[in-house]
This record gives sequence, C-alpha cells and structure tokens, in this order.
Amino acid sequence: MSSQNNTFVAPLERLAEQFRKLPGIGKKNAYRLAYHVLEYSESEAQAFAQAILDAKRLICRCKICQNISDREICGICSDSRRKKNVICLVEDPRDVAAIEKLGEFDGVYHVLGGVISPLDGKGPEKLKIAELLERIKSLYSENGDDYKIEVIAATNPTVEGEATAMYISRLLKPLGVKVTRLAKGIPVGGDLEYADDVTLFKAIEGRVEI
Ligand SMILES: [Zn+2]
Repeated sequence: MSSQNNTFVAPLERLAEQFRKLPGIGKKNAYRLAYHVLEYSESEAQAFAQAILDAKRLICRCKICQNISDREICGICSDSRRKKNVICLVEDPRDVAAIEKLGEFDGVYHVLGGVISPLDGKGPEKLKIAELLERIKSLYSENGDDYKIEVIAATNPTVEGEATAMYISRLLKPLGVKVTRLAKGIPVGGDLEYADDVTLFKAIEGRVEI
C-alpha cells in the first residue's frame, strides 16, 4: 500500500490555507469554503478574486477623518448636513459602521487606528493622534478661537481604550475642546462593534464630560 496521501491536491490546499488566515475560520471551515469556491464558474471565481484586489487597490483613508473611503474626502466628511464640530473618536472603521447603522449621530468621526498598547509596542505615535490635533487646530483657525468643539472619546471600554481616551483628553482639553466619554452600558472589556443598537444609542446619548 502506498503511504502517499491521494487526497492531497495542491491548489485546493493553497486555497484552504488562505481561508484559514481569515479571523474565526478553523481548518474544517477553511476546507468547506475552499470546496465551495471550487463549485464557482470561471466568471464567479474571477469576480471573487477581483473584489479582493479592488478592495486593496481602490480603498484609501479619508484625508480628514482617516476612515476607509474610495474618495480623498469620505461621504460623511463631505456631507454638509453633518456637524463638523462634534467629532466621535473611534478605534477603527468597524466602529464607524456600527454607529452609522443607528442613523442617529449627526456629527463626524476620527478613526485612530487602534489604541495605545505598550505591551504590543503600540505607542501614541502609531495612532492618528497628530492628525486629530491638526484637524482641531484648523477648525479653530477657520472658525475662530471661541468655536465650540466636542470630541466624543468612543474608544472601547477596555483598559487600553480607557487609557487612550484619558491620554487624548489631556491633549485636547488645554486647546479648549470639550471631551466626553460614552455613558456606561457597553459591557466592560466589550466592543462597540458588538454592542446592540439600543445600548450603543444610549451610550452616545448619555455621554458625560471627562
Ligand atoms: Zn472622512
């Protein structure tokens, strides 16, 4: 008897390996997805591959809020109905999506790109904090020194999220910015992205100055 594994098909293994790299996908699911893709027609496979390449090629960061966008200035920042002086500070684009889904918030965002996490070698310089300070300064220079600006520190209620909110609050307050924090309600250690709509809405509505 041959000891060779007759079910080994290299391209299938490579495809499964790619799925395996996705978050939450174990070995079994990776093969399930790979076999599913095998059923695709040539044009379906082409569309699938092209969507990945296009996402990488066409998506950039909005120059103002740092959120993902397919334009230099994103749809939210270029919407004249949104309050440019109420800036919701979030960790990543998924948080923007979670808040936008509520359809209640009429301010704008600033995406930090994570939180300060010394253990992971992530200092403040790795986040879009300098960009936030620049943005605040240009808002003042465009609208005058008594322009009212509020920054809602909507980082997640984790140890790092809280510390990052405090760090940024200390930078912003001397500039005259009102800094608020989401009301308690989102479970400690939890993630904005996974909070239910009512909890998230109440947390924004009930925000308190820090
Ligand atoms: Zn933007």
